Amino acid sequence: MEAIEILLDCCKRKKMQVTNRGNLQMRGLKESPPHHVYQKLQEVGLASRQLQIDHLRNIMLNPTAGIDREELVDTRVWLKQIIAYMEDNPEKIATLPAKFSIGLDGGGIVGIGSRYNEIQFTATKTGEGILFHLELGGRKTFIPTNIFIAPEYLITCLDSLIEIYRQYVDSRGEGYRLRDLIQEWGVSEYWRRVTALNHFPYYTLQTNSSPSVSCDNIAAYDYKPFPKRDRINPPPGDKPHPEDTDKPHPGDADKPYPGDADKPHPGDADKPYPGDTDKPYPYNLNSFHLGLHRQKQEGLYYLGVALPLGYITRQQWQGLRELVEKSGCGEIRLTPWQSIILPNLSDDTIGETIDTLEKLGLSPRENHSRGNVVACVGKAGCKAGITESETHARMAIEYLGEGKQGKQTPNIHFSGCSKCCAQSTPRQLSFIGCWVWRDGKTVEGYKIYRGDSLIAEVTVEKAISLLPELLKEVNG
Ligand code: SF4
Repeated sequence: MEAIEILLDCCKRKKMQVTNRGNLQMRGLKESPPHHVYQKLQEVGLASRQLQIDHLRNIMLNPTAGIDREELVDTRVWLKQIIAYMEDNPEKIATLPAKFSIGLDGGGIVGIGSRYNEIQFTATKTGEGILFHLELGGRKTFIPTNIFIAPEYLITCLDSLIEIYRQYVDSRGEGYRLRDLIQEWGVSEYWRRVTALNHFPYYTLQTNSSPSVSCDNIAAYDYKPFPKRDRINPPPGDKPHPEDTDKPHPGDADKPYPGDADKPHPGDADKPYPGDTDKPYPYNLNSFHLGLHRQKQEGLYYLGVALPLGYITRQQWQGLRELVEKSGCGEIRLTPWQSIILPNLSDDTIGETIDTLEKLGLSPRENHSRGNVVACVGKAGCKAGITESETHARMAIEYLGEGKQGKQTPNIHFSGCSKCCAQSTPRQLSFIGCWVWRDGKTVEGYKIYRGDSLIAEVTVEKAISLLPELLKEVNG
């Protein structure tokens, strides 16, 4: 954490942002950090040892790896192997698109199923033990294959998937992604080439009941719907956002992702604050990882804290570092929902931790407003941006923080244009930047969606003024 402080200082930045891939980002730098800072980041494992690749940002794990009380495997073990593999094969990784992504999900309560990594492995319980289910990222959706890999062959499988992907990109040129490969070849042909390159056993799902293994022969490959798993995946839903101009992958757009986004978190919602039953419990009903949750380690808890649009200041970061040292929680985890997790808290340290977070302006009691609003940077930092989406999202957070919205805190999305980078799937309310025609000229405006229904197309001023009324309507 200290290395990040050094980086912020040398870049003269007072804040940074946790991205929706769970990475840290600083905008508007005019030059690279000096060599000694880069070396420091390398020493602590926050920068690549191979200068031609930036592979750490390509990998995403479920942020509760190793502490999730329902996880099937601790994915951190595999993370080390994947990093080593990528560092040993920089020439392969360097030719892949910068947005190439791998997801590794331990199959616990907090899944990363809504983040659509290009190659995703999710631990799944089967008749043959724990296997990794392979899913492939299409256009803001997953193509859930019926392929399962034994953990010991994960790296061999990944190597083949990457090599064939690399060959495809090489032959087509820059800008091609895995979704293009799949659109052109289909999953079966991709998989045929993958298994022809490296021989390794794999399993396919042959029934609609619980996954069971019946063959490892590509000739028997036959797609069957993946059965629902008994686990909770994060909101939002799975349909592409109506403003999303990317076409969904054929046949997959309407397929629900296994799991049920709206189920409450089992066992936690009504739980009193450990060690202090008088204090209200800082949970957030709409966000499955925010608030306090029991870990799989007896007597330990993790606390999910929402950040306003993912931003954290230099001062807050320093305060968190001191808190980590004092509470003994050992680490801070970044989530792909632009929030943080403080793990390994005990009955003795929770109260003090929350007091410190409140002093730092990061109170978990604000999770309900901060955790429910997402926004892209908008025209302040993006050439395609039409509206100041971040500024407007902050207004929504402030309004929600005042608690005037009624019974529930709806989730809200602001994007500066129709690319919807902040959120690819519908939220309860979405404000999508657009040009509108008023008094003989085009002015900045928003298309407003409730779920996936367009309900208004108005100027920015009008959209902001409608917010209280819309929130009341959402609350019924
Ligand atoms: S949604 Fe539009 S404005 Fe926002 S980051 Fe994406 S391209 Fe830029």
